[in-house]
Amino acid sequence: MFNFDYSYLSLPKKFHSLTQPSSCPFPEIFLLNQKLINKFNLQLTQKKILDVLFDKNNYKKSFAQNYAGHQFGYFTKLGDGRAIIIGEHLLKNNLRIDIQLKGAGLTKYSRNGDGKATLRSMIREYLISEAMHYLNISSSRSLAVIKSGESILRQNLEDGGVLVRMMKSHIRIGTFEYASYFGSSKDLKDLTSYTINRLYPHISNSENPPLALLNTVMNKQIDLVVNWMRVGFIHGVMNTDNTSISAESFDYGPCAFINSYNPSKVYSSIDHNGRYAFGNQPKVIKWNICRFAESLIPIINENKKIAIELAQSVIDKFDSIWKKKYYSMMLNKIGIFENKKSLHSLIDELLSIMENKNMDFTNTFWYLSQQKISKTQFNSDSNFVLWQKKWNNYIKKMSCLKESKQIMKKNNPIIIPRNHVVNEVIEKAMNGNTDSLNKLLKALTKPYQKQEGIHEYTTPPNSHIDACFQTYCGT
Ligand code: AMP
Ligand code: MG
Repeated sequence: MFNFDYSYLSLPKKFHSLTQPSSCPFPEIFLLNQKLINKFNLQLTQKKILDVLFDKNNYKKSFAQNYAGHQFGYFTKLGDGRAIIIGEHLLKNNLRIDIQLKGAGLTKYSRNGDGKATLRSMIREYLISEAMHYLNISSSRSLAVIKSGESILRQNLEDGGVLVRMMKSHIRIGTFEYASYFGSSKDLKDLTSYTINRLYPHISNSENPPLALLNTVMNKQIDLVVNWMRVGFIHGVMNTDNTSISAESFDYGPCAFINSYNPSKVYSSIDHNGRYAFGNQPKVIKWNICRFAESLIPIINENKKIAIELAQSVIDKFDSIWKKKYYSMMLNKIGIFENKKSLHSLIDELLSIMENKNMDFTNTFWYLSQQKISKTQFNSDSNFVLWQKKWNNYIKKMSCLKESKQIMKKNNPIIIPRNHVVNEVIEKAMNGNTDSLNKLLKALTKPYQKQEGIHEYTTPPNSHIDACFQTYCGT
């Protein structure tokens, strides 16, 4: 069972609003994450979880969070329009995890929305967030998907769903923007110390805690986005309200994974200018961190000029940290431990060949780590042959081939949740056959291991299907 606490309610009232989930007419468990239940020792059975989730007596203190954010570059007031935190589950080591119901009905911040979510999109979020976790990427987790039993109106009538989501915290850059634009300096200070105590207590005694928070979040977000680039993940809607201070990936609406390598790749139907394209993600996270810095200015120093200089000194480090971490990760993908500047061209050249030849991102790195480059696939390309010679020479010079193989294995997944496969299994599940969904979910728990019977998951779609594939936000 949950061991609930509500520390977020200690923040000033403007940060939250007490909200009860709407009742579902005929709730049914659609997916239940037994591994996660076991991990947190929750002892929730199928029946118990429904009782807990839909008993209003449990929700005297459940709340929606208030926040703002820059959406596609434009600032706006937001807030949880269809998400309700039913409590913070307390763990033994004084850590807490938000338990949130996504799609559980109207809140004070629903604006024109209905507060609901489609079953289809909640299954997708469950699948992707779990896949991200097993790919070793910090992510929100999914405990269950509930079929609500009601139909909700989108393009057509659709089955409604509720996702039970777990996250270290849902505080986002947009929460700080809200405090900074609409609150007092005290509100901003309260939010900052709450966040530091909850997520980064080790910086609470630093000389300038807001500045230390900026620096910490910047570094953690760089780690996160570098990790996205490692597996070909496009978040798709990297608005500041979807950028968490805990540096967990979350809100998986229009996300997708690239097949062939293309830094300009966009799948989201609403991202017309490619703001959130695969290769733009480093620039976007820097832009978002700048918005975070701006929101902290009033409490970094009383003197605005000094505050700006201090914040700028942190932001100025972004590019060099990014470069270092990004190339270090990419070199690891080709089995190289050293991160010498002279080796960066090896990565740039490979990516440029992959882009020109429409080579599959995941499979190319996997093939390289297996050293099984089939003639038909690559040898026709003289640039690739030359590149491979250079790479082979470098690898041979290195003393420990075994370690190279190991680091490649750790960084190059065999299976990612390819968009067309995800769509296919969800379609089947919506039609009553959940076998394929469960099979995929199981395979995705071991993305770095060879497994039998996964050929369909490792085969890229034909390029026409990939070119037409679109993801949607309004879910
Ligand atoms: P997202 O980009 O999906 O995180 O959503 C952006 C904002 O729209 C957030 O404030 C959401 O709470 C809100 N929102 C999205 N869908 C709905 C909905 N069906 N009803 C109410 N609010 C929504
Ligand atoms: Mg969001």
